[in-house]
Amino acid sequence: MENNLQTKKKLSLSTTIFIALISGAVLGVIIHYALPAGYLKDEIIVGGIFYVVGQGFIRLMQMLVVPLVFCSLVCGSMAIGDTKTLGKVGVKTIGFYLVTTMMAVTLALTVAQLINPGIGVNLSAVEQKDVTAAEPTAMVDTLLNIIPKNPIGSMANGDMLPIIVFALFVGVMLAKLGTKVSTVSNFFSQFNDIMMEMTMTVMKLAPVGVFCLIAKTFAEIGFDAFVPMLKYMLAVFLALIIQCLGVYQILLFVFTRLNPVKFIKKFFPVMMFAFTTATSNATIPMSIDTLEKKMGVSRKISSFTVPLGATVNMDGTSIMQGVAVIFIAQAYGIDLSLGQLVTVVATATLASIGTAGVPSVGLVTLSMVLTSVGLPVEGIAFIMGIDRILDMTRTAVNITGDAVCTTIVAKQNGELKKEVFERMDS
Ligand code: ASP
Repeated sequence: MENNLQTKKKLSLSTTIFIALISGAVLGVIIHYALPAGYLKDEIIVGGIFYVVGQGFIRLMQMLVVPLVFCSLVCGSMAIGDTKTLGKVGVKTIGFYLVTTMMAVTLALTVAQLINPGIGVNLSAVEQKDVTAAEPTAMVDTLLNIIPKNPIGSMANGDMLPIIVFALFVGVMLAKLGTKVSTVSNFFSQFNDIMMEMTMTVMKLAPVGVFCLIAKTFAEIGFDAFVPMLKYMLAVFLALIIQCLGVYQILLFVFTRLNPVKFIKKFFPVMMFAFTTATSNATIPMSIDTLEKKMGVSRKISSFTVPLGATVNMDGTSIMQGVAVIFIAQAYGIDLSLGQLVTVVATATLASIGTAGVPSVGLVTLSMVLTSVGLPVEGIAFIMGIDRILDMTRTAVNITGDAVCTTIVAKQNGELKKEVFERMDS
């Protein structure tokens, strides 16, 4: 009976998030077309209520990220204990992330070559905006930055990779010292529980946050901006869908034998959350929680792979970049050689690692990919206007890739409870 009640409650949260998404979009479109620009629309409704409530909700989720990731990673690595297993999990996870990203870019290039989004684009019709190229960080520095000079500084800045490294160290040391440090171990376990409980509480506000975020987006852009760029958007959407519902699900089935439809169904609320916020980082708590409660993935694994994935594994972003390269090349009438396409695969994979899990960064790191094959960075201006909706969609794909990899790695390490996954009520 109690179980039944709980199920009903859980189901109703995902359903309410979905209803909030649709109704927010409808209200946004109505406001865009029916309400004249002015103080009421711009300052009170869109820039006031929608903005404050939506951003407030994102900030609440962001507030959880650093303490949650740190504690749950310390507890995870403490539970795994020996560095050998940890190393194995790490290598497997990183290998999987790299391979899926390369597959994603290749898929994007193929789809874009078939759809030819940039052919027939009238460049003069599109307004030029200033685009500042991202200062590419040298490869050696990117590597060195993984080691924190000051762990507290990294936490204060929310730099995920150094936080991950430090947390792993702390966890391994706690495991090594055992009962001598049981007070500290208990502290982290209990703090971890507090953070998980906080996550659940904040998530109850998700429908309101999602409603305001989506209503603001649609109230601002309506449908206008979509039309001229439809072909480019279609190509990005198509590649994203193939990656998410095809590539990932095949990999999931091959490696774990789990039912892909069930997987998507259970993970859908997290995807919707990523969609509305366009922020992989803020999705980390919800993703870890869903993977544990609905899929049976042990937090020993997910506490490491999910934050790492949200930081370095951006398959959706690299898909947008692949299509954007073809679009811009065609729009400028530039032919790309096979060698240049291979370069795009390599640089887009690196760009995916360098893209932070926050909105619009994929657009910034795109300049690195364009420069690598000599395409004009100004091309980004053409796709800026419609990027928000693509950002939302690719973020949902980004975090799905992390979840699929996490489930596979968990299965391979005997950390997946199949009976939890099979329960249809969750
Ligand atoms: N918004 C994306 C994310 O958080 C990053 C991007 O592609 O801009 O995953």
